Amino acid sequence: MVAVRLEGLTKEFGRNVAVDHVNLEIEDKSFVTLLGPSGCGKTTTLRMIAGLEAPTDGEVYFDGEPVTDIPPHKRNVAMVFQDYALYPHMTAYDNIAFNLRMKKVPEDEIRDQIKNTTELLRVGHLLKRLPTELSGGEKQRVALGRALVRKPAIFLLDEPLSNIDAQLREEMRSELIKIHEEFQTTFIYVTHDQIEALTLSSKVALMNLGRMVQYDSPMDLYNKPADTFVASFLGSPSINLLQGKIVRDRDSDSMLFKGEDLIYPIPGSLKLSEDKVGTRVSLGIRPEDISVSKATKTEEISTNVYTRELRGAETILSVKFGDTLAKVRVEAESRFQAGDRIAIKFKKWYLFDKKSRLLVIWQS
Ligand code: ATP
Repeated sequence: MVAVRLEGLTKEFGRNVAVDHVNLEIEDKSFVTLLGPSGCGKTTTLRMIAGLEAPTDGEVYFDGEPVTDIPPHKRNVAMVFQDYALYPHMTAYDNIAFNLRMKKVPEDEIRDQIKNTTELLRVGHLLKRLPTELSGGEKQRVALGRALVRKPAIFLLDEPLSNIDAQLREEMRSELIKIHEEFQTTFIYVTHDQIEALTLSSKVALMNLGRMVQYDSPMDLYNKPADTFVASFLGSPSINLLQGKIVRDRDSDSMLFKGEDLIYPIPGSLKLSEDKVGTRVSLGIRPEDISVSKATKTEEISTNVYTRELRGAETILSVKFGDTLAKVRVEAESRFQAGDRIAIKFKKWYLFDKKSRLLVIWQS
């Protein structure tokens, strides 16, 4: 039950800057995810919050108090690692009881706490087993139990679901949401899985190359990406990014996006500044924001279906603009086939400047 603030947090390993001046405010009792590609500094940030790694620069605050000089065992944090790190020679019960026994908690109190926690985690029937007699998902739940019985003020989880199969991972995701509600504790969760981040968290901190790129609610991160990295990191299939230039249409005096095999009007209502004319931009359109119909008129924007992929609940069409392939999400039963001429409309699109930063969002 602690608010966490990171201020200019930096970690260098020799000449490698693993975490680069990260600022972050994590509200008390919230569920925040550190998301980003492999090697972007998520685990190192988490380890600095835990006190397992000393920052090269910057400060960690718990409830406004600096904790950088406080050792891990005095920070009242619990950390669950990807590899569970259960003691192999101890039963599940003894693993969960370990930290409480170290703190000299009376055995009957330990029994009560373990009972409550393991009921919630649905591992009450496995407590006599050794870790080798547990499945990956069961080991994971025992590891969560061992951390939770300590009643930490902050719960740190480092890719805790990465070693379990897809179906169990989905179940565990829902359970984690329940556990967070039940325990009313600050959760900081590291993952490179966008679905995990979007479904679990109240806020997501997206990192790249050691830096914090955007810190927002899952909806805002998806709908208002700060740059093309954020836009591309979230969503599957990924957002389509078409390269082009902003030009002025002499006839209508309005601005246009001019890409390879695509000219698209930019409404005057977006009030794009005059100095953007002539600059390089990317037009970003998510696959679900493209509507398609049979091409009938010459004035429509049209293209050919290149491939068609059935994905069960939906179908993904790919179409070509010049050499760029764009993905379009349509209903599973869509009648369009490879080779069909289709008309295209964009329901929502983003314009990114030459430095890949978001310029404007347009929505019909
Ligand atoms: P992953 O998702 O692959 O676990 P991550 O985002 O958690 O990646 P970190 O583990 O924090 O990334 O690593 C960030 C960078 O710091 C990487 O370049 C990594 O090689 C480097 N690094 C991490 N720990 C050490 C260390 N103890 N010594 C030297 N370099 C390290």
